[in-house]
Amino acid sequence: MADEKIYMIPVNDAFSVDCECAFCYLENNFEKQCLEIVLGESVMEVDSRVETNKKGFCSRHFHMLLEQKNKLPYGLMLETHLYEIKTNFEKILSSHFISSNSQKKEGFLKRILNNKTSKENLLKDLLKFFENTNSQCVICERINARMKNYFDVFFFMWKTKKDFQQKVLSSKGFCLYHLCDLLKFSQNHLHSRDLDHFVEKICKIELDAISRLYQNICEFNKQFDYRNANNVIPHEVRNSLINAIEKLGKYK
Ligand SMILES: [Zn+2]
Ligand SMILES: [Zn+2]
Repeated sequence: MADEKIYMIPVNDAFSVDCECAFCYLENNFEKQCLEIVLGESVMEVDSRVETNKKGFCSRHFHMLLEQKNKLPYGLMLETHLYEIKTNFEKILSSHFISSNSQKKEGFLKRILNNKTSKENLLKDLLKFFENTNSQCVICERINARMKNYFDVFFFMWKTKKDFQQKVLSSKGFCLYHLCDLLKFSQNHLHSRDLDHFVEKICKIELDAISRLYQNICEFNKQFDYRNANNVIPHEVRNSLINAIEKLGKYK
C-alpha cells in the first residue's frame, strides 16, 4: 500500500501473516510488549507505578509476569500492591468497628458477626472491594484500548483501500471471539449496503475456514485407523488440532 500511514502498518502486516486470526496475532504481540513495559515502568515511571500498585493484574497476567526475567521489579511491585490491598482491607474492617477499646480486634469481628445490619453492610463493602480488585488488570485495560484502536484502523482501511479488502478476504478469517468483536464494531463503522456487503463477505470466509478445519480434523482422526498407518499426513492435517483451537478460542 503506497500511501500507508504509520498506524496502519501493524494491522496491514498482521493480515499478511498465515494464521487463523490476524487480531489474535496483533493482540498477542501487544501483550508481549505490555509484559516487558510494565516491569520496566514499575521501577521507572511514577504514574504507571501508582496505577499498577492500585489495580494489579488478572490471574493470566500475574502468571505471565512471573515468567519474565526481571524478578526484583516484580517483587517490588507485589510488595506495594499487597500493601495497598492490606491497607484498604483494614480500612473497611476498621470502619465497621465501633468499640470503646479499638485495640481489642478479636472482639470486633465477633461483635460484627453478631449484629445482622452491620454484618450485611460489612459484607457489601467487602464484596465491592474484592470484586473491584479482582476485575482490574492494568495489562488487560491497555490491551482492550489498543484492540479498539486496531479495529478502528481495520475499518478505516476496509473502507478506503481495495487492496486491503482483498487481503482480508483472502485470509483465513478470525477466531470466534474476534469475529464477534468485528461484527459488533461493524455496525459503528459501516451502514446499509456497505454493512450488508461486509457481513456477507466476512461470513463467507469464516464459514470456509471452519469447514476447512472440520475437514482437517476429520482427516486427522482417520489417521488413527490402522489401515491408514502408512499414509503421509499433510502438514495442515498434522496441525489441525492447534489450528482448530486457535479458531475456536482466543489465545487466552
Ligand atoms: Zn482472534
Ligand atoms: Zn489481564
